[in-house]
Amino acid sequence: MTTTHPATVSAVARLDGLLRNYGHLGTLDLLHAMIMREFPGRVAVTSSFGAESAVLLDLVAEVHPATPVIFLDTDALFDETVAYRDSLIRRLGLMDVRIARPHPRDIRESDELWHRAPDRCCHLRKVLPMQRATEGFAALIDGRKAFHGGDRASLPTISLGAGEVFKISPLIRWTEFDIERAFDDRNLPRHPLVANGYRSIGCWPCTRPTEPGESPRAGRWAGSAKTECGIHTFAGSGI
Ligand code: SF4
Repeated sequence: MTTTHPATVSAVARLDGLLRNYGHLGTLDLLHAMIMREFPGRVAVTSSFGAESAVLLDLVAEVHPATPVIFLDTDALFDETVAYRDSLIRRLGLMDVRIARPHPRDIRESDELWHRAPDRCCHLRKVLPMQRATEGFAALIDGRKAFHGGDRASLPTISLGAGEVFKISPLIRWTEFDIERAFDDRNLPRHPLVANGYRSIGCWPCTRPTEPGESPRAGRWAGSAKTECGIHTFAGSGI
């Protein structure tokens, strides 16, 4: 059992129960249990519609295509990501994709802040809009994988985030090979930038292609110590 924030006894007890009852399940069974049984109407998926996102979105669509999917448009995305998002929505039959955007005032404040103060930029363009968009949900499903490294390497399938929101990471134990096989087995389209060497895709000022042998997230905030934007933890809310 892992928590990343101080939590009440009842939330920790529920997390224990969820892990005990569902921690051993395969991906589709876990998604079904979370979406249909444990958190009906109170669970959403957060997705970047990035390099590997199609796999989780296709699995969720198989379980319940009306599950809300929250997409964060930071106003600094690649045009290819926006086009890919729209084509995937149609292809997978996703029925409730919600687009979260930063406040125009925060876009103005963070203009070109990405190089000078990336934590502040992520706070304004990502964390605040994501906080607003996920308000009221008891659980959030994400596509984090342990093989991406960093904090993700030791993440359990179910954890507790800020505000005692349950974080469901059904792909956490998937390998890169599993992802590749799912793309093939499910005949899923690729993000167009994957062909150019992008293996983890975020905002254009902070993303570069990876070199052979680098980890998938090495192209994010390359050359700096930053590895996460904060949307999975809502950390740094006072930045
Ligand atoms: S990833 Fe870069 S451009 Fe996007 S919000 Fe963070 S610092 Fe700003």
